[in-house]
Amino acid sequence: MKRECGRCSLCCKVMGVPEVKQDFAWCPHCAPGHGCKIYPDRPERCKDFHCQWLIDPRFGDHWYPAKSKIIVDHKVDGEKAFVTFVVDHDYPGRWREEPYFSDIKAIAGAGILGALGIKWTTVVRVRDVQIVIGR
Ligand code: SF4
Ligand code: SF4
Repeated sequence: MKRECGRCSLCCKVMGVPEVKQDFAWCPHCAPGHGCKIYPDRPERCKDFHCQWLIDPRFGDHWYPAKSKIIVDHKVDGEKAFVTFVVDHDYPGRWREEPYFSDIKAIAGAGILGALGIKWTTVVRVRDVQIVIGR
């Protein structure tokens, strides 16, 4: 079943969108729980953003960002790939809680080993703190 954002607006809180907001700050155009007040005219960056929970069924329901307080973001920068867990700054320790921590460690291990045919670096980010996760 296709997933939908529902009442989640976490990306409008923690992700940076230079056209309208810094990261780790609510967008002035967001009505939390109700969505974007400028939805038809929102920046292209907002239109293009899909967190990994939304598009990758390998992330279980516990990863719904409104519940986990963590957004999973995947990016490729040249030859390098990154999986970044962007943590809601109001819940800075959430990533250390279970089942999240075990999942993050497993994903980091798979990225180091190249278990899916590619390698990636796994990072946890809370505000200015970035932690590279090992095996
Ligand atoms: S964090 Fe994911 S599920 Fe939540 S609003 Fe953004 S894209 Fe949708
Ligand atoms: S412009 Fe709309 S979709 Fe983009 S961050 Fe702000 S509230 Fe969210």
